[in-house]
Amino acid sequence: MDIEYIKSQLTSHPDFPKKGIVFLDIFPLLRNPITFETLITHFVHHLTSHTIPGSPSKKIDAVVGLDARGFLLGPIIALRLGAAFVPVRKPGKLPGKCVSASYEKEYGTDSFEMQADAIQPGQSVIVVDDLIATGGSAKAAGELIAKQGGKTLEYLFVVELLFLKGADKLDAPIYSIVKSE
Ligand code: 5GP
Repeated sequence: MDIEYIKSQLTSHPDFPKKGIVFLDIFPLLRNPITFETLITHFVHHLTSHTIPGSPSKKIDAVVGLDARGFLLGPIIALRLGAAFVPVRKPGKLPGKCVSASYEKEYGTDSFEMQADAIQPGQSVIVVDDLIATGGSAKAAGELIAKQGGKTLEYLFVVELLFLKGADKLDAPIYSIVKSE
């Protein structure tokens, strides 16, 4: 895949959602079906043909997508792999018994929930989101997986904001397509 092309399709929005933040938008990638297809195929190819460090067997039982843009990528990757899709959502959105984990935001804390029976003990799991910034939300997702006895094999992102060092917080390797300084 032409990573420079993918990068060129991302748009940046200064002062969104608030002053001082430059928001990188992945939605333009989804408007072109060939680009979207290429993105998904790139992730699936990575997961099926590269050895994940520490997990040479590569069997993936579930793909966990983060609220909300992880919901646009995760289910397609899960279907291609023949794996389950499991959403992680903001509090109060999921019915039934849930497990929760809190994480640091720029100001204060927030939390994520997952349905308590979504991951079975011993299952191998991949986490997907559009972008990793501080890594707080991905770390909370990893905690929810661990609480249910699952093992996170890898975290996947379209974009990684390298300067925030989010990868350092996580309990498994990360794979990102576009690395932004
Ligand atoms: P973190 O928890 O790593 O600090 O923030 C990552 C979460 O915030 C992800 O769910 C991501 O969708 C969202 N996010 C933060 N900054 C951006 C951005 O610049 N662009 C996009 N698309 N999402 C962002």
